[in-house]
Amino acid sequence: MKNSETIWQFVDARKDAYEVLSDRIWETPEIAYTEFSSVAEHRAMLSEEGFHITENLAGIPTAIMGEAGDGGPVIAILGEYDALPGLSQVAGIAEPREVVAGGHGHGCGHNMLGSAALLAATSVKNYLAAQGIKGRVRYYGCPAEEGGAAKVFMVRAGHFSDVDIAITWHPASVNRVDDAMSLANTRMDFTFKGRASHAAAAPHLGRSALDAVELMNVGVNYLREHMPSDARIHYALIDAGGIAPNVVQATAKVRYAVRARDLAGMRALIERVKKVAHGAAMMTETRLEMAVVSAVSNLLANTPLEEAMQRQLERLGPPAFDEADRKYAAQIQSTLTQEDIQSAYARAGVAIKKDTPLCDFIVPYGTKGAPMMGSTDVGDVSWVVPTVQARIATHAIGTPGHSWQITAQGKSGQAKKGMVHAAKVMAGLAVELLGDPTLLARARADHKSRTDMTPYVCPLPAQVKPPIPPSKPER
Ligand SMILES: [Zn+2]
Repeated sequence: MKNSETIWQFVDARKDAYEVLSDRIWETPEIAYTEFSSVAEHRAMLSEEGFHITENLAGIPTAIMGEAGDGGPVIAILGEYDALPGLSQVAGIAEPREVVAGGHGHGCGHNMLGSAALLAATSVKNYLAAQGIKGRVRYYGCPAEEGGAAKVFMVRAGHFSDVDIAITWHPASVNRVDDAMSLANTRMDFTFKGRASHAAAAPHLGRSALDAVELMNVGVNYLREHMPSDARIHYALIDAGGIAPNVVQATAKVRYAVRARDLAGMRALIERVKKVAHGAAMMTETRLEMAVVSAVSNLLANTPLEEAMQRQLERLGPPAFDEADRKYAAQIQSTLTQEDIQSAYARAGVAIKKDTPLCDFIVPYGTKGAPMMGSTDVGDVSWVVPTVQARIATHAIGTPGHSWQITAQGKSGQAKKGMVHAAKVMAGLAVELLGDPTLLARARADHKSRTDMTPYVCPLPAQVKPPIPPSKPER
């Protein structure tokens, strides 16, 4: 029996408990930095499994790490458990229906993400102990992936400085090694301060902060024509200055997200956006304040790790979905548009398969799909540690990210089979790495070649701290 078959058996031996864990996390959806019950569930599991636990990583009460084993290399397996606002949804149905009106929901599948990562870490721990192999495995419980970028704070605090390899996954509609395409992203607030006055009787005395925001937005919209085509800029009004049109608005605030293909490109683009903001302030005689809210780096690829993960995937094959899973996935697909489904295939770079509600194939390594890039705080981990991610099918092909349909499928048969499959891919790769120093060295060399010329500089200004709520809410 090969090593990978043995480790898969360790995964199967513990999977039931982790399917239950995933369901419990689904049932208590908590958003960025408030994942108190979710982290307590993960803590209880780490403790039950006998991990050595470190809490409050980077001073964040909902960040946790468990380590097992001794000597040898350190393999980190990254999990998440935060939910999204406004995506409360009853499980197992194919129509939108909230559990709690306006409530939170696991619309990105992080209930599965964390549970599968912890199952993988547990299986590697048990394997190392059974085989008497030197090596350490860590589970990192990373909060606030959605809009909070907690991993960046964890990287900045040095929690990954002695890690050799990081492995993670994300629930998806296809099975593949992630192509490491994500954008560096900074969120920044621009606050303009003007002078209030009566908008009819004394308009000449007023200086409108809202005018400044509008002029900034116009300026940035002209800037778009002259920026790299894969960069993205979007904005939301945080404070329009009030609801009275007869008062010149003295304060207004707009939040920008500035995204680019890499850190250097993002920094350059931010400087140009700042110039537009200064111009708007000058035109309106208002005062400008700028503050970074959060920032993440782009993902760095790692060819040896990706090839090794692809081998794991191909030996495992796709998850063994059954008729009930396919039937429910087909019902979900009937709520989607053809464009949703076509986009999922285009993103994966594979030809559309008819009558295939759940992915029954592995996307070949190196397949070029249509770039549809978001951002992730795994990016910052990938700059300091060789990192690789799997995407494993847990929902119907075409299910949009951050949708009620993902929340609905979060406790389904496809979710359970996909998450156990993901744990096998990650644990299998970890075991292969611990037994193959050459592969480890090649992964390190690949990482060095990508960072030698452009060493990592944390995109967060030093003064930006994790936005932790003032106290743990009473439950
Ligand atoms: Zn996600």
